Amino acid sequence: MARRKKADANLRKFKKGNIWITLVCFIIATFLTIVFVSLFISAFLSYVADSKMTGEYNAVAQMANTYEKAQKAGLDEPGLLVENEYRDFFVKDANGNIVYQQGENTCSDKNGRLSLSDFSRGVRVYLDKESDSFVFEKGDEEGELEIDPEKLLKWMLEKNASYTKQAGQKENTNEVALALPFWFCVEINDGQEQFFAKAYFKANIRDSIFMILFALAIGFQLFTVFVLVLVNFITTTTSQRKMTHIFFLDPVTKDHNWMHFLVRGEFFLRHGKSRKSNYAILDLVFVKYRNFCVCHSVEEGEELLRKVNKLVSGKLNKKEICAHYASANFALLKQYTTKEELDAWIAKLIEDLESMDPTHRFAFHVGAELLPVTVNEKGKIERRNNLNLEKVYNDACTARSTLEESDDSGYAFFDENLVEEQRWIDTVHAEQQSALDNNEYIIYYQPKYDPRTRELKGAEALIRWNSPKHGMKAPNTIIPIFEKNGFIVNIDHYMISHVARDQKKWLDAGYRCVPVSVNVSRAHFIENDLAEQIRDMVDEAGCPHDLLELEITESAFFDDKKALVTTIRKLQEYGFMVSMDDFGSGYSSLNSLKDMPLNILKLDAGFFSGDLDNERGEIVVSEAIRLAKSLHMETVAEGVELKEQVDFLARQGCDMIQGFYFARPMPPEDYEKKMANGVATQEDVEESAAAGAAQAPVAETPAAEAAEVPAEAAE
Ligand code: C2E
Ligand code: MG
Ligand code: MG
Repeated sequence: MARRKKADANLRKFKKGNIWITLVCFIIATFLTIVFVSLFISAFLSYVADSKMTGEYNAVAQMANTYEKAQKAGLDEPGLLVENEYRDFFVKDANGNIVYQQGENTCSDKNGRLSLSDFSRGVRVYLDKESDSFVFEKGDEEGELEIDPEKLLKWMLEKNASYTKQAGQKENTNEVALALPFWFCVEINDGQEQFFAKAYFKANIRDSIFMILFALAIGFQLFTVFVLVLVNFITTTTSQRKMTHIFFLDPVTKDHNWMHFLVRGEFFLRHGKSRKSNYAILDLVFVKYRNFCVCHSVEEGEELLRKVNKLVSGKLNKKEICAHYASANFALLKQYTTKEELDAWIAKLIEDLESMDPTHRFAFHVGAELLPVTVNEKGKIERRNNLNLEKVYNDACTARSTLEESDDSGYAFFDENLVEEQRWIDTVHAEQQSALDNNEYIIYYQPKYDPRTRELKGAEALIRWNSPKHGMKAPNTIIPIFEKNGFIVNIDHYMISHVARDQKKWLDAGYRCVPVSVNVSRAHFIENDLAEQIRDMVDEAGCPHDLLELEITESAFFDDKKALVTTIRKLQEYGFMVSMDDFGSGYSSLNSLKDMPLNILKLDAGFFSGDLDNERGEIVVSEAIRLAKSLHMETVAEGVELKEQVDFLARQGCDMIQGFYFARPMPPEDYEKKMANGVATQEDVEESAAAGAAQAPVAETPAAEAAEVPAEAAE
């Protein structure tokens, strides 16, 4: 369950796409690039500024040193020695008076310490009156100046700082593009005087070009990174969207697929306003789709599926879904108000689907499971948090599968009985073989009597499952399951060999044995050597062939007729009798009679149920008996429960009666008594009626159901 939830969450995540992850990555990458580039530019500019300023300071310090030495040497004009440095300078004494000046004094009062990497304490700097002080910024400590690389760069690129060409300066200064003036202050004579000299932060043309190129390179790099990340972001997002589209797209209908149904379906059922709606999950199946594909083509079949998808989708609102599940199955999520309204909607849907192509008449089966809104004790709408959409759809499929037998359109709703049915099918499937191995299948015998003489003429062997776990189970609860899963072949073998053994045993015990008929499933007739198999089994038990009759159900006659006729003929050659069971319950019995060389005709119980004074019914039965006689066949009337029926059949010349009037299916011990008696007495009739009354509560078998018939039926 936990794993499933995780998988669902992943699916939802996938559906939303990881656009946010990509976006966040994009933002982080851009941010980091900007920070990195800024730091780099800042460090680079600091380095450039530091080295240029250090050079200037060293020149000024050299001047101060020369001046000091000249002073100490007693020169009257010590400044003359440094004049050829072509730098404005002046010297202040301890009282702040200018004692010597060379050039113009444009030094301002604003000053501070400038930190340079070669000087641990930094150097003192005064701003020039003309200089732009914005290049510097205040450091942490009071009076400390720092070069702001950002401002410096801005200044270098934008501001055309004026550079006053100094008298006598070398001609190569035309290379200088920008120069920022300021003043260095160096203490001389042990701090008694201060030597001020004008210095320049210079950026010549090469510097500027380099800076501009550098800025362009960085800008270009930044732009490239930005474009790359952006392109990556766009391609990832679009491919993500494409992937999502493909993931939720059905290859046949080019519309929603099962994944979409699960993800969006669970969302609608659990979230938003739609969670307050009644929903139905439907399984819609195009009946005989494979047949259509075989008769036409797969392409045409798929075209038809697209039509179905379009038609159904056109009937749904935005909070409803139609998704192609597989093959001819569609999963639908449909809102409804009342079950009646949903009934009508499904009926109309089927009607429209049936007639979607004027040249064909299609059939559709729909199974539905309802998910009405439920409220808790506090009157609040309960959340469908634990809902498993796959399971609900499976329920809808189970409901739909109940229609499988029919080729006509129809719909069915899921209910808990279906779960029970499915469980029972599973149980039978799981236990069928062990039940066979443990001899849990037992044989009941139902005698057949001559209606005129009441003489015992035959019997039918009918299976029961005497399960230690589930009790006594009637054939109708197991045979249809065996027929579907193929186990019926084993059952037929079991019955034939056991009946043959019983007959042999009774023969040896001196009973006056009569032929016993065994039902052979139509699935068995596919086997070419069926007649040989039966012969060998009967021979192995040592039972004479004329004591065994084989009943073939009427529906088997629609299968491969040629094979059937061959098997019947072989069986007759081996001395077995073959009867047609349930004659009259199907559609083309007469046609089958024409082709099949049968010995016995068993009139279906349906002839003898319902209205007793049915003149038309009597005509049909008497004509059927007459027809059988003309074809040299014996007749057995099944399901005869009333004396009037027995008398009527006697008059019509029916050969045998197999019905509750004379006897119900019974265990072998009881049947032995019937054999011993040889004829049905009034006591037998009463006993059968009493048995019916006693069996009434055990309502699982047709026999038991029949036991509920009114008392007069027992007569
Ligand atoms: P069937 O072969 O037509 O068997 C006759 C069914 O009619 C039996 O039901 C029998 O109990 C019932 N019946 C007989 N007389 C009356 C009557 O007067 N009134 C009513 N209401 N019912 C009567 P059962 O034993 O429940 O068997 C049902 C069906 O299950 C059989 O119909 C047969 O098709 C199938 N079946 C039973 N045993 C076997 C078997 O061993 N192999 C195969 N392949 N099918 C079997
Ligand atoms: Mg039968
Ligand atoms: Mg029958």
